[in-house]
Order: sequence, then C-alpha cells, then structure tokens
Amino acid sequence: MIPKKEILGVGIHTLHMDEAVDTAADFLLKSDKCRVIATANPEMIMMAQDDPSLAHALREADLVVPDGVGAVWALNRQYGLQQTRVAGFDLTQNILALSAKKGYRVFFFGGAPGVAMTAKENAEAKYPGLAVCGVRDGFFAESEEEDIVRMINDAKADFVLVALGVPKQENWITRHKDKLNASLIIGVGGTLDVMAGVVQRAPKWMQEAKLEWLFRLLCQPKRFLRMLALPRFVLAVLCAKK
Ligand code: UDP
Repeated sequence: MIPKKEILGVGIHTLHMDEAVDTAADFLLKSDKCRVIATANPEMIMMAQDDPSLAHALREADLVVPDGVGAVWALNRQYGLQQTRVAGFDLTQNILALSAKKGYRVFFFGGAPGVAMTAKENAEAKYPGLAVCGVRDGFFAESEEEDIVRMINDAKADFVLVALGVPKQENWITRHKDKLNASLIIGVGGTLDVMAGVVQRAPKWMQEAKLEWLFRLLCQPKRFLRMLALPRFVLAVLCAKK
C-alpha cells in the first residue's frame, strides 16, 4: 500500500518520482481495469473544496501524486515528511519513455485542434519506438463523448493522456474510465501544449527555485485570478488542524 496523507481533505500519495513510475509500470502490467493517476496541486485542492465531483474524482483515483511546490510544502509542514515533487509533466514523460521501451500504445486526447498531433510527432521523435496510436483534440460536444471512448478503444490504447484542464479532465475520466480498455489514464492539464511547443515550461533554474508558478503567471497573465488559489491554499493549510 502506498502511504497517503490528507491535505485539506484531499488524499495525496507520499511517494517519490521513481516510485510513481514503478507504480505506473505496475498499473500498465495489470490490464484488469483502467487505473487513474491524478496530479494534485494547490489550485486543484482548493477547487475540490467547493466542487464535489472533483473531490470524488480525486478520492477515486488510484494514484494521486504531489504535483506543485505548494502541495509538497503542505505535506512536509503538516506531516514532517521529506516529500519531493512529482510533477505531472515529468511523470508523463517518464511513462512515455517506459511505454516506448515496453511497447505500450499511447493515445493523446486534449488541447486545441492540431496540438495533440504536433505533440505526437515530437514525442515519437524524442522517444524512439513510441507508438502514439491516436490523437483527438479536446473540444467536443457532450454528444461526441461516446465516439471519443470508441476511438480510444479502437486504437487499442494502453495509456491515455487526457489534457482538458482541471476539473474537466477529471470529470471526463470519472465518467468514462470503466468503458475504456486502456490500463492507465492520467489527467495532464497543459502537458500536450508543452510537448507541442505551444507553451514553454519554466527553465530548470526556476523549477528548482520553486518558481514555476511565477513563470506560468508571467507567460499567461490571464491565469492571475486562478492563481489567487495559491495564497488561499497557504492560508487554509496554516489554519488547518492536522
Ligand atoms: N482544453 C481542452 N478542452 C477544453 C478546455 C481546455 O482541450 O474544453 C485544453 C486547453 O487547450 C489546454 C488544456 O486543456 O491545452 C488546459 O491547460 P492548463 O494549463 O490550463 O491546465 P490546468 O492548469 O487546468 O492543469
């Protein structure tokens, strides 16, 4: 059993990157059902306080990794751990490398039209042997959802990346995971945008200085309102009882 600790009522698994990759590898080996990975950051944790379906999706996920420096800070503060960050982007890259090695078929779902296709071309160049067996953009009517499930199943995907943003991706996954034949599905937010080169990821030094949030804010100032969740999160954690 992977240890799990609660931050503001959201359970987060306290593992490190290598253990998260091993867990994903294990999920991919067991093909009895579609297992779900969620990446918890402060924005998502705050959203889950007022959004019961997101809170439910996080409870149901098979693995919730501590993404975001705020989530790591809160775990270390509340429980005296030596938790490190398991960034969703990096975890996804590691599972793609594993998929290339083991021959798992991958499906990219989400982003604006064209983004998933460019991400596929870049990923196949970066991970020789990787089979991205299908792509689908993330803009669709509710009536198309069953077709998307069929598309993923027809492509015989083992690993599905869902990049619709929070909480749309978590809700989509909750609604459809039991109909998917894939072994593993992960909600990845803007990961396909970064893989396609549409959005830049913070330089390494900013990631290491725990300033990735600032880089995202400078690149996408319209995130300002959403990012007010960060100080609210810090305040809520400081006021919370263990
Ligand atoms: N997106 C999508 N369908 C939608 C809304 C958003 O595919 O209906 C995509 C959007 O194009 C972007 C991603 O979802 O690629 C959200 O990225 P963001 O960085 O905002 O993710 P978050 O911060 O929510 O994890």
